[in-house]
Amino acid sequence: MSDWKCGKCGREYASSEHINLPKIQVNPDDIDPRRGAGYTSVCEDCGYVFHKDKWSIRETLTIETKELGSINIDVSTVFLELDHGFGGTPLWYETMCFPEKGSINCDGFGRYTTQEEAEKGHEEIKNALLNGKFTIEATEYSLYVQSSEKTQTPAPEVKTDE
Ligand SMILES: [Zn+2]
Repeated sequence: MSDWKCGKCGREYASSEHINLPKIQVNPDDIDPRRGAGYTSVCEDCGYVFHKDKWSIRETLTIETKELGSINIDVSTVFLELDHGFGGTPLWYETMCFPEKGSINCDGFGRYTTQEEAEKGHEEIKNALLNGKFTIEATEYSLYVQSSEKTQTPAPEVKTDE
């Protein structure tokens, strides 16, 4: 079973093959890559650099919401390199949304088999957002107890690097 795919020549690799591919530093300027950005694999056949060379579209939209006013949201569609179909129809592409207000959970995503489907899915999600076809729901609450100082939760300890 093939799990990984080169984003350039399309060669598929099992995880056991992928792990043994030649590696290069993610950031060529790292003096010690194990402490920096680390290493990434290179396709044996075409030189495609996994992670770095992957196909993607990312666009920032401004959408209008009743709940939070105007917010910026990034719609990002990427080639995943790793099959997310998990044994079913291979899913090599994914769209995700990243609202600038980090406290919004975002389930607006799609997964696709081909780049053509991914481009179409990206446009559909973008248009839905721009045309107000979405809902924002409050799903998380925080509890704050009003009490004397003695019983208040202490502030989290700040860890210092040694
Ligand atoms: Zn390749």
